[in-house]
Amino acid sequence: MKITYSIIAPIYNEIDNLPELHRRVKGVMDSSGEPWELILVDDGSTDGSTEKIRELAAADSTIRPVIFARNFGHQVAITAGWDYARGAAMVIIDADLQDPPEVILELAKKWKEGYEVVYAVRSEREGETWFKKFTAAMFYRLIYSITDVKIPVDTGDFRLMDRKVVNVLKQMKERHRFPRGMSAWVGFKQIGVPYKRAARVAGVTKYPFSKMLRLALNAITGFSYFPLQVATYFGFTLAGLSILAIPVIAILRLAGSHSFEGQTTTLISVLFLGGVQLISLGILGEYIGRLYDEAKGRPLYIVREAPEEE
Ligand code: UDP
Ligand code: MG
Repeated sequence: MKITYSIIAPIYNEIDNLPELHRRVKGVMDSSGEPWELILVDDGSTDGSTEKIRELAAADSTIRPVIFARNFGHQVAITAGWDYARGAAMVIIDADLQDPPEVILELAKKWKEGYEVVYAVRSEREGETWFKKFTAAMFYRLIYSITDVKIPVDTGDFRLMDRKVVNVLKQMKERHRFPRGMSAWVGFKQIGVPYKRAARVAGVTKYPFSKMLRLALNAITGFSYFPLQVATYFGFTLAGLSILAIPVIAILRLAGSHSFEGQTTTLISVLFLGGVQLISLGILGEYIGRLYDEAKGRPLYIVREAPEEE
């Protein structure tokens, strides 16, 4: 039987959400009247989610589990979902039910109208701290302004994509990945659908600040050279100012002024420039480290148990 919809959910320690996720996705997808499958990608869970996934899959053949050998991260788990999904359309959804499965039908409607990427835009967010909302809002806007592709703001990974699009994404082998950037980069006919992001059903967020920062760095380095260019702009500005300063100081000295003398001014400028140079080196390091990772060419993820092919 040809599968129409592949629903992909990355799972990292979501044991209390799994039965509810299955129940709600099943309710919604059965009502679509078309064949579907639920790909549960276990991203190295340690709370028993793995066993729970096996148990659910044993009772319901629409569930296809992909079980990783260890934690590889949300973005990589999504990628594995693309690799194993067989549907004509693929939907990425969070396992904590913050993305209501009911919205999938709205996404599907747009797909039927001919859109190839239908992304869900968070018009409201419930049950999240002001810190999370604030940093997320800043993140989306920063990414939007400095990356070369226009990645829609307030949009997470919750989206439906046509198989055509996913086939292109599967050829993009980068390891520091930012799926929403990648799916904007490929083009195709895209549209947003607003939805209200709910609170987590159970458990806590798996995205502490450090992980959000890493994701932001992946987004920036993956889609922009801006940080590398900042050093150049800054260098030119400072060099220009210094050249202007030379005649000014010379004239002041000739006129007998004692301003701009002494160690403090020298020390401050040395420390300032030293700081700027170290930051620039650090930025170079970020890009070079990523280049090194790509050059190693290791597999993106390791699967311990793959779903059976039919
Ligand atoms: N997730 C994952 N691997 C990780 C971290 C998270 O597969 O290393 C999954 C997690 O189980 C959830 C989704 O990614 O299904 C989104 O994570 P979370 O809800 O913690 O992020 P938030 O909604 O707080 O941004
Ligand atoms: Mg969540």
